[in-house]
Amino acid sequence: MTARVLVVDDVLHNVKLLEAKLRSEYFDVLTAMNGMDALEIIEKDQPDIILLDVMMPGMDGFEVCRRVKANPAVAHIPIIMVTALDQPKDRVMGLEAGADDFLTKPIQDLPLFARVKSLVRLKVLMDELRIRNSTGQAFTSEGALQNSASFKLDDAKILLIEDYERVANRIIGYLDQTVETVDLDDVSGGTLSTENMGQYDLFIISLSLREADGLRLCSSIRSNEVTRHTPILILIDEGDHATLIQAMDLGVTDYVTRPIDGNELLARVKSQIRHKRFADYLRGNMQKNMEMAVTDAVTNLYNRHFLDTHLESVFSQQNEKQANVSLLMLDIDHFKKVNDTYGHSSGDEVLEEFSKRITNNIRSIDLAARYGGEEFVIVMPETDVEFALYIAERLRRTISDEPFVISGSESPIHVTVSIGVSIVGEGCDTREKLFAEADKGLYQAKKTGRNKVCGIRCLDNEQAS
Ligand code: GH3
Ligand code: MG
Ligand code: MG
Repeated sequence: MTARVLVVDDVLHNVKLLEAKLRSEYFDVLTAMNGMDALEIIEKDQPDIILLDVMMPGMDGFEVCRRVKANPAVAHIPIIMVTALDQPKDRVMGLEAGADDFLTKPIQDLPLFARVKSLVRLKVLMDELRIRNSTGQAFTSEGALQNSASFKLDDAKILLIEDYERVANRIIGYLDQTVETVDLDDVSGGTLSTENMGQYDLFIISLSLREADGLRLCSSIRSNEVTRHTPILILIDEGDHATLIQAMDLGVTDYVTRPIDGNELLARVKSQIRHKRFADYLRGNMQKNMEMAVTDAVTNLYNRHFLDTHLESVFSQQNEKQANVSLLMLDIDHFKKVNDTYGHSSGDEVLEEFSKRITNNIRSIDLAARYGGEEFVIVMPETDVEFALYIAERLRRTISDEPFVISGSESPIHVTVSIGVSIVGEGCDTREKLFAEADKGLYQAKKTGRNKVCGIRCLDNEQAS
């Protein structure tokens, strides 16, 4: 995993030192020695991550951070604030300015690489989610949410796993200022109960548990579908580098060393929860966009684009799978008159009810799509001629037999539908031909009086009933 890191520090020696360390781990390094230069490079070169010194003459690190996070073009780039060891308040201030992580001077290798890598990993995920989201519409109207700093931490839920009561109580004390609930779970059995695990925003796990193996707990959290994306913050002894490396490899997101500094813990907890909330939001949007991309809003049926994709895959399958795929093309009769008589919104209600009746009368392996205004297509796999005609006829009657009760109209509306049927077979072996055949049937049904099923063999309503 490589990435472009921008190092910002006003002291040349610090810049050179960090540059050398990062290059030794194969990161690309950019450098800046004051805030103005940094902002320019950030905008121009879009680094993957920024290491930002707090104390700089002129514009300090907080101000640089605030400006980056206020600029939608670069707000997503993670910032690690580099603070002096004797200024614990700076970490909280950094967080308030929108920073994503903190390192204290003098910077040690392991924390540096662990934090940079963890944030790069997060950024890769976020970039992916952001790209997918921007193809939908979610992002155009909600620019403010591009920055994860805009999330509140109210009612965050944290699960703390620490079996030294005194330490646990101290941690709860630190967190209580911003976190409503801290559940203290007993994990003496060595396993985490998986029930309700999805409700937590963060797991804090001690790696010095008496009764359980903390690393094992981390690993079980990561492999559980429900908690795969939930951040884990571990409490680890200062200097236990081997365990820290193991933990980071397992996918632990952050750590605090003992003795625990309350300010640092609080700052890290806030930062982790903020990231999680933002990722959840992006994921939720993506889901919504995906659904919107394949379904039609009025009828909830699949849209034409999805239908085309589906048929493409049908025709790319083995021949035996294609055999017995049939297609129904439905067109509501004189629908224009429904609009003209009862109004457009009543027309919409008819479309809705029509779609419901169709959905209730096909199998779950069948696929119903809205093809156009009042035209629908149903694809039915494993369906022979007889069955296709039988279903089409049943659908026709489902529509015509029971007038539509519509909220906008006092008397029920009598609706009928014409249906064209085609089936994959000799001479009908492409998507285009399948459609053309069904269309021919539909045309025939319309021409010979409507409220009819036509296709491979024409059925009219009197004949069928
Ligand atoms: P035919 O029996 O020949 O199919 O007659 P028709 O009136 O159903 O067909 P035509 O294609 O002339 O008109 C279709 C009408 O469907 C016109 C259009 O305004 C209406 N329509 C299309 N989409 C919608 C929609 O989403 N909502 C409503 N209310 N009407 C729609
Ligand atoms: Mg039409
Ligand atoms: Mg019509």
